[in-house]
Formats: sequence, structure tokens, C-alpha cells
Amino acid sequence: MAAMAHPTEHGHGGHAHSNEHGHAARGGTPRPRVAVVKFASCDGCQLTILDLEDLLLELSEHFEIVDFPEASSARSNGPYDVLFVEGSVSTPDHLRRIGELRKQARVLVTIGACATSGGIQALRNWADHDAYRAAVYPTPEFVESLARATPIAEHVPVDFELRGCPISPDQLVELLTALVTGRRPQLRDEAVCMECKRRGVVCVMSAQGIACLGQVTQTGCGAICPRMGRGCYGCFGPREQANAAGLARYLQASGERSAEEVGQLFAGFTAYSEPFRSTITDLGGTRGARRTGGAGHVAGGAYPPPGGAATGRASYLPGRPRMEGIDDDGR
Ligand code: SF4
Ligand code: SF4
Ligand code: SF4
Repeated sequence: MAAMAHPTEHGHGGHAHSNEHGHAARGGTPRPRVAVVKFASCDGCQLTILDLEDLLLELSEHFEIVDFPEASSARSNGPYDVLFVEGSVSTPDHLRRIGELRKQARVLVTIGACATSGGIQALRNWADHDAYRAAVYPTPEFVESLARATPIAEHVPVDFELRGCPISPDQLVELLTALVTGRRPQLRDEAVCMECKRRGVVCVMSAQGIACLGQVTQTGCGAICPRMGRGCYGCFGPREQANAAGLARYLQASGERSAEEVGQLFAGFTAYSEPFRSTITDLGGTRGARRTGGAGHVAGGAYPPPGGAATGRASYLPGRPRMEGIDDDGR
């Protein structure tokens, strides 16, 4: 395998092969040091890494896993050549840790809807935080949590992100291969509908009138839900330039659905990603916010946040390369 890509502007610099900590791979070349850390999440995306099974052995020839609590007792405080981050920033401790971890990582990759969009826990962002916490926990005073659960990119620069709940094993392998060979990952930026067409799936919305978010959702899953006869609920998050408001209007007009019902369709794992976020707000907020007396808009600070609603979004998308030495053609 060839060298890993050059350092990003955010990383510590230093070529992967010059890493004095890296143990040699076959042939005497040090392997990039890889760590996997977790914030607020269910571990499902980490399990997708472990589910690579036989491929893990091959990968271990090219990467040195220095910290991955789900898989190993090895621990390292860095530096890391590649750091995978699962989960959203949801507690004061997360806020402290993410900045420190970013300083240790040459390439930072967020994995899954929690890390890239805030996850299901970001539904509290529309609600009254204290009321929400009291509704869930019998002794809420013992629970330290922030009023908003936020994606990693809202706090630190992110080099690549893998979407989905959980992430796609195929996209994970593509990213790892690209990192080790020093090329741009080939990850499609298109709607789930395209995957339906390629696979010959009959459209559940056209044929059965089932609400489907596939038109505004990034592909990567292989259109699993339409293949099973159900609508997409957007777990890979919005694709670039998705017209979520237009789809919301269509779903209300065509299916006699209420604004609340349509808002709930968008209020899933990637609710806090724009433009799903503003669409939900325009439709009156989440059902949980209404039940807990929330304001119906995004709580905690300015909305949209300073610097734009979509802070630090997808880094692998065409025209937005974040790794030096990798151009838009993936070379
Ligand atoms: S994105 Fe889904 S599978 Fe991954 S950690 Fe979050 S909840 Fe779990
Ligand atoms: S089923 Fe959904 S994702 Fe598939 S073509 Fe129809 S609208 Fe698009
Ligand atoms: S079809 Fe939609 S909800 Fe289903 S796995 Fe794919 S992106 Fe997620």
C-alpha cells in the first residue's frame, strides 16, 4: 500500500510514515495510528467497524489500532493519524474533550448520525431541556447534560464524515482504503432515489402513497427501506441542496397529512441537520417539544447559530476537499 494522505491544515502535521510511535507493518513501514472514541451514542457505529470481521485482519496490516475501547484494552492519549469519533457533544465533559482530541488528530472522521447530525438526542434541542430531563430521569439533578446535543463539526473542524445510523460498512472500507492509499474517498453525493432506480426498486411513494424522504436524503445505505417496502426516514441525513421544505409541502398536499405529522417524519436521527432542522421548526417543532412545553424552535442560543446554520458540514462532498494532496477527481 502507498502512503497515507498528507496532513490536513488542522492536524499535527508530519507524514504518517514518519510517526515514531507507529509499529512497523510488513515491510518495515510504520502504520498510521488509529483511534476510535465515543461521545453520546449507542456504540452501533463502532460495532459496524467490528462487523468487518475478516477484513479487520487485513486492515490491521495497514493501521495500528492504538485506542478502541469497544475492541481492545490498549489506550493512547495520542497523537493519532486517524481519529474516528462516534456520538454527539451532549455533556460539559464532551465539550472539554473534543477540543483536546482534535489537537491530537491529524485526520478526524465523524461516524454516524449522532456525530454528524447530533443524533436522536438532538431532538431535545427543540424542547425545554430541564423538562425533558425530568421526564426521562427519576433523579435529573444527577444528570449533567447540555441544553443542546450537537454534531462534532459544530465544535471542531472535521476532515471526513460517514453518515447513517449506523454507518455503511462499504463506505467505511472505501474511506479506510482511500486514507491508506492517499486518494479522495469515492462516496456518492446523491439522493436515495438514485439507488432505488439502479436497483429496480418500485417507488413506495408513487406506487403506495407511503411518505418517503429518499429524495432529500443522502444515499449510502443501498435504499434498504424502500427495498423492504417502507419509506426512507432520512437516517443518512440531508443531501446537498435538498429541498426539504418543498417535499414537506408536497407531503402535506398529497397525502392529507398534518403539519405535525410531516414534521415528525423529519424529526428522526438527523433532525438537527439543515435543512431538516428549519423544516421541522417551520412545521411547529417536534412532538416532544410540544409535550414538554418547549418553544417549538431550536433552544439554546441563536438560531441559526453564528456563522450559518450548517456549521462545518460534510467535508468529503465534491468541491470541499479537506485533505491536502487530494483533489476533486479523487487523485
Ligand atoms: S448513529 Fe445510530 S448506530 Fe451510530 S452511534 Fe448513533 S444511534 Fe448508534
Ligand atoms: S421509494 Fe423513496 S427513495 Fe425510492 S424512488 Fe421512491 S421516493 Fe425515492
Ligand atoms: S433508506 Fe433512508 S432511513 Fe432507510 S437506511 Fe437508507 S437512509 Fe436510512
